[in-house]
Amino acid sequence: MPNDKKQYGFTTTTLHSDRSKPIEHGSLHKPIHTSVTFGYDDARDLAAVFQGRQQGYRYGRQGNPTVSALEDKITRMEDGHATICFATGMAAIGAVVQALLREGDHVVSSAFLFGNTNSLWQTVAGQGIDVAFVDATDVANVEAALTPATRIVFVETIANPRTQVADLARIGALCQARGILYIVDNTMTSPYLFRPKAVGASLVVNALTKSIGGHGNALGVSLTDTGLYDWTRYPNIFDNYKKAVPAQWGMAQVRAKALRDFGATLGPEAAHHLAVGSETMALRLERECASALALAQMLEADPRVAAVHYPGLASHPQHALASTLFRACGSLFSFELDAAVDCFDYLNRLQLGVSASNLGDTRTLVIPVAHTIFYEMGAQRRASMGIAESLIRVSVGIEDTQDLLDDFRQALDAA
Ligand SMILES: *Cc1c(COP(=O)(O)O)cnc(C)c1O
Repeated sequence: MPNDKKQYGFTTTTLHSDRSKPIEHGSLHKPIHTSVTFGYDDARDLAAVFQGRQQGYRYGRQGNPTVSALEDKITRMEDGHATICFATGMAAIGAVVQALLREGDHVVSSAFLFGNTNSLWQTVAGQGIDVAFVDATDVANVEAALTPATRIVFVETIANPRTQVADLARIGALCQARGILYIVDNTMTSPYLFRPKAVGASLVVNALTKSIGGHGNALGVSLTDTGLYDWTRYPNIFDNYKKAVPAQWGMAQVRAKALRDFGATLGPEAAHHLAVGSETMALRLERECASALALAQMLEADPRVAAVHYPGLASHPQHALASTLFRACGSLFSFELDAAVDCFDYLNRLQLGVSASNLGDTRTLVIPVAHTIFYEMGAQRRASMGIAESLIRVSVGIEDTQDLLDDFRQALDAA
């Protein structure tokens, strides 16, 4: 049994977290519990669980022991207070909207966003919630966009795919001073490279589909309450969820109003895959971040490449900030080829980089951004987000670094 008082390292903690609670039959992994419902010998216990007076499971949509074990793992990774998992990354961001926002509320979001999150904010803008997009690399832009109705500030740590780094600590201080909920999407850094709690985040999103699960074999997301936000300052909490101590109000409302009412529940099989994947995340990221830096440096030095975007490069506008905030600058970078090189031809010459849309996978994945994931938003909005038409996003996998360097260079040489 791991000693709960001792501070273990990141991987040790992740590996042994399931065993901090008794597991059936001495199993080392939390087993996959497929039961949809949970029976009680005493019907009064069932009632007590329903009324929140007793811990326990009732119906799979609102909770499952395999999923709970994963939630506990993520809570430890983020040094948080509580975590709720959902079926996909987008479901968690949607859950925030469903559970915590009301008509007339205002959101300030970074303009540099994962494409589907951008689309989600456009969707809710048509449902009476006002969203202001700002350049979040400078807190002054966030501050200027705040209104008395601003409930949430939403940023990504390193923006996908152009790698802008948000002014994370100053935005945290601003939100704290104004009592605004500060939501940080930590997917691009993961809790191994960065803990948003350190910059005052209230809620942390991690798309488990990416680095944490790491193998591209299961979708899922976590939403973690860091415990820093004072929920008594949040106007949209229903009286029903104010029965427990204030630290629990937010997650109680999210679990009921988003998970129970809308039902984007993570399945136990996916939770198992994601939990197993998470055991090797730190090892994978060490390799991936080193390879990403080596590739970015090689491409930046090549005259056939017009630009490389990676916070680990000294030429990146937020390089100094990224170096102080993150353990390493992540497994994702993007680059623009010289106009004489066709991006589709280049991608087709790669033998290891696979043209595909995921990221944080063990395999290196490449994608022509403007023609795929950022196609629907149109050229004007792409330009405002700094997305060149030739931009290629690279999610670096765990292949041997030299093999990747050779592959990305031969694809240029053949041009
Ligand atoms: C992929 C991703 C998401 C969404 O996750 P899904 O599991 O694909 O829904 C959210 N934020 C970021 C930064 C992502 O890269």
